[in-house]
Amino acid sequence: MAFEGLTSRLQNVFGKLRGKGKLSEEDVNEAMREVRLALLEADVNFKVVKDFITKVKEQAVGAEVVKSFTPGMVVIDIVNKELTELMGGTHSKLAKSNKPPTVILMAGLQGAGKTTSTAKLAKMLQKDKHRPLLVACDIYRPAAIKQLQVLGEQIGAPVFTMGDQTAPVDIARAAMQHAKDNGNDYVIVDTAGRLHIDEALMEELRQVHEVTQPDEVLLVVDAMTGQEAVNVAQSFHNQLELTGVILTKLDGDTRGGAALSVKAVTGCPIKFVATGEKIEPLEPFHPSRMASRILG
Ligand code: GDP
Repeated sequence: MAFEGLTSRLQNVFGKLRGKGKLSEEDVNEAMREVRLALLEADVNFKVVKDFITKVKEQAVGAEVVKSFTPGMVVIDIVNKELTELMGGTHSKLAKSNKPPTVILMAGLQGAGKTTSTAKLAKMLQKDKHRPLLVACDIYRPAAIKQLQVLGEQIGAPVFTMGDQTAPVDIARAAMQHAKDNGNDYVIVDTAGRLHIDEALMEELRQVHEVTQPDEVLLVVDAMTGQEAVNVAQSFHNQLELTGVILTKLDGDTRGGAALSVKAVTGCPIKFVATGEKIEPLEPFHPSRMASRILG
């Protein structure tokens, strides 16, 4: 399971603190040294860890201990709060256009889980009685169009495609008209991914962006790739102004670094997390719940 190593290490640190009636400065310093190592080992960005530890220490030193709490519990509470803040504080909701359709552009590298997440997002919207249109703009990856069609059929959502011989920008333009004509209140555009970020990919995304004027630009990143996921997010964000991140494969054995670093490094919130290959509704990302989960 994700975060397993981090959780057990933190539990270990806090186990030692929890019972103590009094905490010396040395106790706090020792605990923070261990938290720092645990976070680094979980592949959290170095600078993020440094800032995090500084913030927790500052508060821990001046913290008032309410009656029913032990000093150790106070420190744990501060860590919990700061972890939540690190991941954005509160849940960042999906934007909704007041002039439907709401357009969501899906971006990401090949294999990150873009097409799968597109279907999961559609399923989530269907649950709330929306009528999403899925748009197949990934014309390069063999079978991407077919994959989207199969997933669309599976969840009962229409898929707009013009095959693999039309430019994505033209497909996107036609899809917008199609959505308006057919009363789709959401348009989710599945774009092409590459193995690496390149100028051609970005240019194509910019063109699709231009004709669809999306309300959301969601980057799909694979949590399993750790800090590389954060680097990818930063590069896309520099070029495209992302509005949010979907973190996939959280069911896997990820150490958690991406979940804890993306917001702090890029300023871009994680809006959803995805688990599993089966098409289930995408789960909204709640920083406080994730912090509690990490603390175990
Ligand atoms: P794309 O190239 O970004 O469109 O990626 P795909 O949606 O085709 O996904 C690539 C592979 O990752 C497929 O085998 C998916 O079934 C798998 N996948 C996608 N999302 C998840 C996830 O959240 N968890 C797991 N375990 N696998 C996933």
